[in-house]
Amino acid sequence: MGKSTLFNRLIGERRAIVDELAGLTRDCLYGVTDWRGRTFTVIDTAGLTSHKVTEGTDMAELAKETQEQARAAISDADVCCLVVDVRDGLTPVDRDVASELRRSGKPVVLVGNKSDSHLEPYLSHELYELGLGEPIMISALQGKNTGDMLDAVLDKLPPPWEEEEGSDLALRIAIVGRPNVGKSSLLNALTGGKRSLVSAVPGTTRDSVDTDVTFDDQRIRLVDTAGIRRRGVVSSAVEHFSLLRSLRALDRSDIGVLVLDMSDGVTAQDRHIAGYAVDAGKGLVIVANKWDLLSIEEREDQTFRTRMARDFDFIPGAPVITASALTGRHLEGVLRAGLDVNKARTRRVPTPALNDCLRDAIAKHPPPTHKGRRLKVLYVTQAATPTPTFVFFVNEPDIFHWGYQRFLINQIRDRFGYAGCPMRVVARRRREVKT
Ligand code: GDP
Repeated sequence: MGKSTLFNRLIGERRAIVDELAGLTRDCLYGVTDWRGRTFTVIDTAGLTSHKVTEGTDMAELAKETQEQARAAISDADVCCLVVDVRDGLTPVDRDVASELRRSGKPVVLVGNKSDSHLEPYLSHELYELGLGEPIMISALQGKNTGDMLDAVLDKLPPPWEEEEGSDLALRIAIVGRPNVGKSSLLNALTGGKRSLVSAVPGTTRDSVDTDVTFDDQRIRLVDTAGIRRRGVVSSAVEHFSLLRSLRALDRSDIGVLVLDMSDGVTAQDRHIAGYAVDAGKGLVIVANKWDLLSIEEREDQTFRTRMARDFDFIPGAPVITASALTGRHLEGVLRAGLDVNKARTRRVPTPALNDCLRDAIAKHPPPTHKGRRLKVLYVTQAATPTPTFVFFVNEPDIFHWGYQRFLINQIRDRFGYAGCPMRVVARRRREVKT
C-alpha cells in the first residue's frame, strides 16, 4: 500500500502511537511532523483501504464499518490526504473513500504514490475520475515530491490555534490517556461536575468544547472536554477515534496531563502518548490515578518515583501526582503542577548564565573525540520559540552526537528548572577564533 512508508517518512525518527483499541479491528497510527515551521499530527488510517474482502466475509457489514470509520476519521481531520497506488490503479474502496471525502466538504489532497520510475505507465489519468482535483505524484519510498505534498497540505490547513484566539489564559491543558484510565472522572472532579463552568469557546473548530476553571485566581482551560466526556451513545467509530481526539486537544494546549491507571502500571501505550506530547513540544504532568486501588505496600514502595522517572526518561522531571479521581486525592496538585511546568516552559535564560552552565558542564564531562577530531562547544544561546530551544555553536556539528547533546541539555534542565518540559537542541557551525 505504501502508506506506512509515507507515514514513516513524514514522522521521521519520532515516535508513532498505535491505537490499541483500534488494533482490535485494524491499526491506526498517530505521529507528529513539522513542515515549514508548522507542527501537525499525521494519522495513518491504514485500515480504510487495506481491506481484503474475502469470500465468506460479511461484505455489507464490512463496508458499513469501513464507511463509518472513514467518516469519523474525516470529520476529525483538518485536511485529508487520499493516498492511492498509481501502479495498482484505483480500488473500489478508493472510490468509496473519495466520494465520502467529496461529500464531507473537507479540504483534500489527492496523492498518487509509487510513482518511482519514469518507465512505468501510471494510472494518473484515472485519478482525475475521483473528482478531487489534480493529484500530487509522489514516491514515499524514495521521498520524491513528499515536500510538494506537505506544501499542498499546509496550504489547506486552517490557521494555527495560537492565531485563532488571543486570551488572558494562564494555561491550556489537555487531559490525555488510554481508555478507562479515569480521564472523564478526573475532568468531572476538576470541574466539580458543574455544567455552569462549561463554555463552548467560539472560533474553535467543530464541536470541541473547552472548559475553563479558576485556580489560584488564574484561568485554566481544559481543552476539548467534549472529547473526554462520555457521550450518551458511543458508536464504535467515535470510540475508535477518541485517542485521536485527545491528541488533537493536545495540539491546542500548552501542557498534556497524562492519566495513568496505576492498577495497570505504566504501559507502552502510556509512554507513547507521553512521547507524542513531547514531540509536539508540550509540557507533561503525569497523574498516577486510581491510587486508592493500590495496596499499602504498593503505595509505600520507595522505588516508585525512580521507576516512573525511568519509564518517562525522555522527559526528565515531569511531575508525578499520585491521585484518585474517585476520592479526590491530590487533585489540586494536578493544576498546580500544570502551572509550574508551564512557567518553566516559558522561561528565558539570559545568555551569560547559560554559558556559565555550559562551562561547568564541559569541565565536568569534556566533549568526546570522534576519529581523532575533538568536538568543541563554544557558545550556547536560547532561541525565541515556544518550546525551550537551545542553539549550540560548535566546531563540527556532525560529531555533536545525541549522547553529548542530551548531557548538556540535562545540565541546563537541572540548573534552570525545566522539569517536565520538552527541550530542543540546535547545532550550528562556528569556526574557532584563534587568539
Ligand atoms: P476514561 O475512559 O479515561 O474517561 O475513564 P473514566 O473516567 O470513564 O473511568 C473509567 C472507570 O474507572 C470508571 O468506572 C471510573 O469510575 C473508574 N475510576 C476513575 N478514576 C478512578 C480512581 O481514581 N479510582 C478508582 N478506584 N476508580 C476510578
